[in-house]
Amino acid sequence: MSEPVPVNGRLYRRPQKRTAVFCLDGVDPAYLEDAFDRGLTPRIAELADAGTFVLGLSQLPSFTNPNNLSIVTGAPPSVHGLPGNHYLAPDGEEVQLDRADQLRAPTILAALGDAGTRVLAVTTKEKLRKLLGSGSVDSVSAECADKQSLPGMLGSVARAVGRPQPDIYAWDASHYALELAFALADRFDVEVLYVSLTDAVQHAAAPGDELSDAYLRRLDELVGAYLDAGWELGLVADHGMNAKADIRYLGEELHAFPGARVVLPITDPYVVHHAALGSACWVHVDGEPVDACAATLRAVEGVEQVLTRDEAADALHLPADRIGDLVVLGDDRTVFGKRPEDHDLSKLRGPLRSHGGRHEQSVPIILSTRPALPELPVANSDVFWLLLGEAA
Ligand SMILES: [Zn+2]
Repeated sequence: MSEPVPVNGRLYRRPQKRTAVFCLDGVDPAYLEDAFDRGLTPRIAELADAGTFVLGLSQLPSFTNPNNLSIVTGAPPSVHGLPGNHYLAPDGEEVQLDRADQLRAPTILAALGDAGTRVLAVTTKEKLRKLLGSGSVDSVSAECADKQSLPGMLGSVARAVGRPQPDIYAWDASHYALELAFALADRFDVEVLYVSLTDAVQHAAAPGDELSDAYLRRLDELVGAYLDAGWELGLVADHGMNAKADIRYLGEELHAFPGARVVLPITDPYVVHHAALGSACWVHVDGEPVDACAATLRAVEGVEQVLTRDEAADALHLPADRIGDLVVLGDDRTVFGKRPEDHDLSKLRGPLRSHGGRHEQSVPIILSTRPALPELPVANSDVFWLLLGEAA
């Protein structure tokens, strides 16, 4: 038995059984509760019954990149450095937070890999691949599987899967990532696997919708395939999802403060999902009075909380240099935009469903094991520790 490996303040051991964590992107607990009620996902229900099923918390803001990185580092955004998918860089340009050199902490995958464990990260969205592959972790994406290979493979990794690669917006792009991971993990004797899905379906379909049912049924079959192959599993979500009836354009609301700049940290290349509208945003006041801007924002319907940079860094465990002078959180039915002309709502498929605030912070955590749980609430960043932690 090798020595446990320290990562960001906790100890992780090489698994005795092959262990996989799946990040079910945007799978709000409501999807699973409804699926369990209707017997739609028997294998996942069985897993939840025999193992562990708790409601945990995502990191805030409840966006994809920060939470995926919290899952794989076991740490909050203040440690790994990513408070959003996107931020205002020091040079005044808005840029994506999607590069390994923007990450400020090692991942559990990289540390276990360095200690000799065979690890693999498979993501549906290419935007996460460089982050999840940080260190020397082998990483591929479903989105670009036809253009990616792994050491020792001839040709692309897409050839490992017995069906054509779906479009990134297809209902089964996530399933393709799980199929790809399954094939590659077998071929490379992977011991610790991380698979990150996409929330394309959850942005478009509520629990009980036909599309959501098709997604969950196929997910259940794939979870069953991993269980049958002897994998220890952890299922977790990066964030939940809610129908959002109201859009507040904070750029317009702040018209009396022409210097103030609204930055939307949900922004990513997948505009069909959410048109860059989420329930949390940054405001950079740029010379305008902070208190007056905050008061204006607090008066906007649907604004639930406005925190200063220091308050947010402290209360939400965020890296202070990568958020706004103000951090704005919305209620369950409200998302924030810049100005109407900055958002192309025609690209959305159906009514807007999105995330980012406290109301999308509840996430399912399902484990095939039954570790002693720490004091509640458990966070999505605890999943690897619950499965592989030295004291778990
Ligand atoms: Zn997500």
